[in-house]
Amino acid sequence: MRAMLLTGVGKFESSIKDIGETDLKSSIPAGPLVLRDIPAPIPGPDDILIKISACGICHTELDQIEGRISPPKLPVIPGHQVTGIVQSTGRNVTRFKPQDKAGATWFFSSCGKCRFCSGGFENLCEKFRATGCHADGGYAEYMIIGENSACRITPSFSDLYSAAPFMCAGAVGWRSLKLTGMKNGKTLGLYGFGSANHLVLQAANYLFPDSKKFVITRNPSEQKLALKLGADWTGDIEDRAPERPDCIIDTTPAWKPVIFALSNLQKGGRLVMNLIRKEEKDKSYLQSLDYAEHLWLEKEIKTVANVTGRDAEEFLEIAAKANIKPRLRVYALEEANLALFELKNGKHAGSKILKIN
Ligand SMILES: [Zn+2]
Ligand SMILES: [Zn+2]
Repeated sequence: MRAMLLTGVGKFESSIKDIGETDLKSSIPAGPLVLRDIPAPIPGPDDILIKISACGICHTELDQIEGRISPPKLPVIPGHQVTGIVQSTGRNVTRFKPQDKAGATWFFSSCGKCRFCSGGFENLCEKFRATGCHADGGYAEYMIIGENSACRITPSFSDLYSAAPFMCAGAVGWRSLKLTGMKNGKTLGLYGFGSANHLVLQAANYLFPDSKKFVITRNPSEQKLALKLGADWTGDIEDRAPERPDCIIDTTPAWKPVIFALSNLQKGGRLVMNLIRKEEKDKSYLQSLDYAEHLWLEKEIKTVANVTGRDAEEFLEIAAKANIKPRLRVYALEEANLALFELKNGKHAGSKILKIN
């Protein structure tokens, strides 16, 4: 099978500023991911083999490529927003049969026994293993995953390409929204408007129709998309929202938005940070943290870590009812480097996927 492999820490040597906007395809270097032809994996007794239709592109892949997360297994096939068709199943499998639609999220496996696992927090298990990091993921034609970790794709959400971004951006966005304590009538602020928050906004429109929703991003094309998708107001990172949000989700890789988000946050409000790693380059912004302005008055900060299989399944059900669709930018498997390069450079608002089969 064809697969795009991550063989070690690499980076994109140039930026769009260096290359210019035209003819990106021919200007992108061959790496950091390399195309290889390797044998397809064979499912164990509890596994399903998925013939992959699509795999979403996530900022976490950039964290892996640039060394902020070190995959314990190298080379590894990255990708953790997988949708496809079950090709075959191991002999113990009962949840899936061949030809079923299935997905894989960042959750690959956990111990299943510790107090976190038994309490429904397998995302916090010490033995948490991630798809596309501890085990091969979806930048390939096939992958295997345990049947209990795989995600069922609700029959009412039939488009496997549109379903792919729900496996991470949607699932972790949904988990973040739940963690904010958002209710109808409260005000929501979204910092960053990539794949996750553009799905969260659509869910919030459906679930919290009386709430104001503000989107804060420095990217004009993302601001434009946010207004199109029903945001009440959009602004830049340093702007004061028209009303103080009770609930904020930050998906940006930087620290400056955290300071401005805390300054905007309503008394008693909560900021949820939805990302695995922050970049270091503007960390000095934290020096401007002022207790009275940013933290006092019962403001809270929470992070979201990983996902459970249920997060994706729950959100897909809501998405089917509310007709939530990602704005898709589609790439071929061989164009994974281009897709990641464009993600890094903030090009094309919405979700990016590899269309594989
Ligand atoms: Zn992800
Ligand atoms: Zn556990």
